[in-house]
Amino acid sequence: MTSSDLFYQHLRDELQGLRDAGLYKNERVIVTPQGARVRTADGREVINLCANNYLGLSSHPQVIEAAHEALRTHGYGLSSVRFICGTQDLHKTLEARLSRFLGTEDTILYAAAFDANGGLFEPLLGEQDAVISDELNHASIIDGIRLCKAKRYRYKHNDLDDLQRCLQQAAADGARFKLVFTDGVFSMDGTIARLDQIRAIADAHGALLGIDECHASGFLGAKGRGTHEMRGVFGKIDIITGTLGKALGGASGGFTSGRREVIELLRQRSRPYLFSNTVAPSIVGGSLAVLDLLEASTALRDKLEENTRYFRGAIAAAGFDIKPGEHPIVPIMVYDAVKAQQLAARLLELGVYVVGFFFPVVPKGQARIRVQLSAVHERSHLEAAVAAFAQAGRELGLV
Ligand SMILES: *Cc1c(COP(=O)(O)O)cnc(C)c1O
Repeated sequence: MTSSDLFYQHLRDELQGLRDAGLYKNERVIVTPQGARVRTADGREVINLCANNYLGLSSHPQVIEAAHEALRTHGYGLSSVRFICGTQDLHKTLEARLSRFLGTEDTILYAAAFDANGGLFEPLLGEQDAVISDELNHASIIDGIRLCKAKRYRYKHNDLDDLQRCLQQAAADGARFKLVFTDGVFSMDGTIARLDQIRAIADAHGALLGIDECHASGFLGAKGRGTHEMRGVFGKIDIITGTLGKALGGASGGFTSGRREVIELLRQRSRPYLFSNTVAPSIVGGSLAVLDLLEASTALRDKLEENTRYFRGAIAAAGFDIKPGEHPIVPIMVYDAVKAQQLAARLLELGVYVVGFFFPVVPKGQARIRVQLSAVHERSHLEAAVAAFAQAGRELGLV
């Protein structure tokens, strides 16, 4: 065999290893727009409980109309990075509108939040500096931190004593600048970071604080501004990263928001911004319509909150174990990985689309179904979903 034959054989072995370990991921093909119900390629109509479509804006008529309008007025694409000829009035307007929405001075758009996090740390921090990161932070934060030369400290998930220990250690190691970074919301458990306390601790140690708001922007807090609003530290976070690909319309795109100097330096040095194409005009136009909707009314985030309260109560009353909390991410604990997959498969037959999560995505023995609620769900969808859970749960001896 040639060495390239060996290489391809190696890849086939790796893939077989994933299948044997039950870790192989299949894509489920959907043939409709995103919504409360979707149709899959095999013709099933199912209630969708696994999208990040928190506010139901992925298929909102006003958002679609605004995207069409931007397509008409600003074209399909720009064929350029931002600083050559890829910045339109729309991009500047969206950056300003996001800053206002988030309570910051300035914002820079990226093609994805993965890029926002990937390009955040390296331009801002050098080897004299320290990043202090929650151990369960999103993969894009971990990768972004890997790309920078700052010294890394990892605190136990949501453990503020351990955060203090890391800050003391960083000081003892002589760090020039210290940046604490955490997900505002952790996507596997729906845990909402205690930003009020984290801010106080960071202040006490002279540290900056950055948060990733991908599962928060648009709906957490009374006006949907995010975790900082909910925790009473609106306007007090140094750096906020987030996505346009979840609650804020669901297409794609990300951003970093914060102090003027931070954003200005990112525009000079952040590699995913400098070396990757600009966000398409239709997405920018659609995102502006999203912000119009959210600033005009809190109806969508209020409905999401109401749906979350209802579903959390009803699924617990049906006998399921859930991780307590307030977030529309509702982890329904099954513990056993095989049972979690059986439950998801049976629910699909019963017309409810959910996904099981198990090791290594969550710790061993912590397998679960992660339900995500949306403002687009009506009570009838949620009642039907709870009834299906109850039936499938009984059949599998879970409740
Ligand atoms: C989804 C997600 C991202 C990535 O967002 P994209 O815009 O899809 O790249 C980053 N961080 C967190 C916490 C996320 O949940």
